[in-house]
Amino acid sequence: MKKIVSLVLCAALVWMLSGCDELPAERTVTAMDTVMSMRVFGDDGTLDDITSLIHTLDASLSAVDEDSEIAALNRDKAALLSDDAAAVLSRTLDIAHRTDGALDPTVCPLMNAWGFLGGAYRVPSSEEIESLLPLVDASAVKMDGAAVSLPKGVSVDLGAVAKGYLADRAKAILSDSAASGAVLNLGGTILTYGSKSDGSLWKVGVADPEHPTAYFGYLTCTDRVIATSGGYERYFEEDGRRYIHILDPSTGYPVDNHLLSVTVVADDGLYADALSTALFVMGIDGAAAYYDRYGDFDCIILCDDGTMYMTDGVSDIFSLADGYEYTIQQL
Ligand code: ADP
Ligand code: MG
Repeated sequence: MKKIVSLVLCAALVWMLSGCDELPAERTVTAMDTVMSMRVFGDDGTLDDITSLIHTLDASLSAVDEDSEIAALNRDKAALLSDDAAAVLSRTLDIAHRTDGALDPTVCPLMNAWGFLGGAYRVPSSEEIESLLPLVDASAVKMDGAAVSLPKGVSVDLGAVAKGYLADRAKAILSDSAASGAVLNLGGTILTYGSKSDGSLWKVGVADPEHPTAYFGYLTCTDRVIATSGGYERYFEEDGRRYIHILDPSTGYPVDNHLLSVTVVADDGLYADALSTALFVMGIDGAAAYYDRYGDFDCIILCDDGTMYMTDGVSDIFSLADGYEYTIQQL
């Protein structure tokens, strides 16, 4: 409940910040285990189309909902997927390869063991983690078009990328409509589209990981997706230790590397969402090496020692909020 209230507050702030003279059509939808708030200018009807898209993708991609396509694949170890589910899985496998497994959808059995998918949080024994690690292997997922098969014990979780893919599909709906601008906050993954009625860009707040209802800064942009991953989004504590919902697929344990949050800005939503999770797993050195190699995104990384790393492309569009101070370094 507390999380929902804070998400709604966050959403309200994003709206206020993107103020505009023409009144937008607005809607809040609860789906994908989060609260989504949308604001569209110039074509109210798109909200119905985007809302039904949200529910369709949620029902298809959820690893928790027993009736979803992904749950059926995980149960039966074979499935003929819908176009959406096949597109998401195949792109996620490509990115798993590209990120050297920092992003790996087959982390699912470990997500279950830690209770992050069902909600019954627990710390598995080291023996249990050792026994599950061999099941984490994206290359074991076989895809032939929409036909997918998984070896015994292997299962997939698309939670790291579903909202990003949703952003891409929502953008296509907006492009086909008369909407002049929109900001969709899809639960921490934000799509900016078009412009305000005065032609100016959107100003989107980036959550302060230590006080998630506040913003440590703002990004001014449009036609980009902004995806943030952080331990603060979901975690539990036991014996004074915090266990977060982003797992390192190479160890089977929650990431614990001094990063507080990673915000990725990219044209493509699925890529932005995937990378926010993957760079979080990689840590600063891994993220810097990945950026040097590919450089096809921008990002802001906050560390627990008060350092903020950012790529060149972000420095032009980012402004720090009043009262925040970080040691700023180039990634
Ligand atoms: P959020 O869902 O809070 O926006 P992310 O986009 O970072 O955050 O996605 C985290 C989700 O991704 C987890 O809840 C889990 O379902 C899944 N996940 C966790 N670790 C990994 C990983 N290393 N690779 C792929 N998926 C992961
Ligand atoms: Mg992500």
